[in-house]
Amino acid sequence: MNTTRRRAACAAVLLLLAAGCGEQPPGRGFVLRYEEPAAGDRDDRRFLEDRALAEPVLAELNAYGDLPHRVTVVARSCGGEGTGYDPGERRIELCYDDLARERELIERSGSPRPEEDLAEIVRETIHHEAGHALADALHLTLGDRAEEDAADRFAQLMLLRGGPGGEHALLTAARSYDAEAAADPGADPADEHAPPAARAESHRCAVYGAAPVRHPDLATPARAGCSAVWARTRDTWTRDLDPLLRR
Ligand SMILES: [Zn+2]
Repeated sequence: MNTTRRRAACAAVLLLLAAGCGEQPPGRGFVLRYEEPAAGDRDDRRFLEDRALAEPVLAELNAYGDLPHRVTVVARSCGGEGTGYDPGERRIELCYDDLARERELIERSGSPRPEEDLAEIVRETIHHEAGHALADALHLTLGDRAEEDAADRFAQLMLLRGGPGGEHALLTAARSYDAEAAADPGADPADEHAPPAARAESHRCAVYGAAPVRHPDLATPARAGCSAVWARTRDTWTRDLDPLLRR
């Protein structure tokens, strides 16, 4: 290669590098990326992206806390593996194909507004997975089940900060857990989460406990202790998050 050509080639490489640098995601915080969907998941990707369901949740999380590293939220086709947080890669896989299963449960529950319900369930799911990512960033040493419960409580903390809209999302997620419990009453011994009926009750207890006067319809003798449970949830997570909270 002669000098002129070599210079031109180097300039091209530099341009490519510069273009690459311009697209570098931030080094810390929750960052979203969409992957191309499998053929059968195209509508679910569009649902997620056109409604921009994840973007405001991640913006709120980044405004609330300052993660010391990047956690990439990858919206992708997972082939049935299920949405989850991978601590090795520090990434949340948000699966397009989970939406089809959720849609089925919502339709079975006879919801009059299935699309809105699905959007709320996605919001709750992202908060739950962010709870795992934060437990990892904070080096919280919890057992598998305890971490799952803590991730649900993190979703409660964040959604209840958002007022009635957040309450609605938790109650919608609770209905979806009810539908899951009804569809498959046998407990899955390999599942680290609490059984769906228990997860539903945990969300309802939080909604009621945080604002009992606003939710007389949720009052039952069994929920008499929910205000204390909610106070513990709020105080525990707020204390644990303290090193990351923005002031
Ligand atoms: Zn989980």
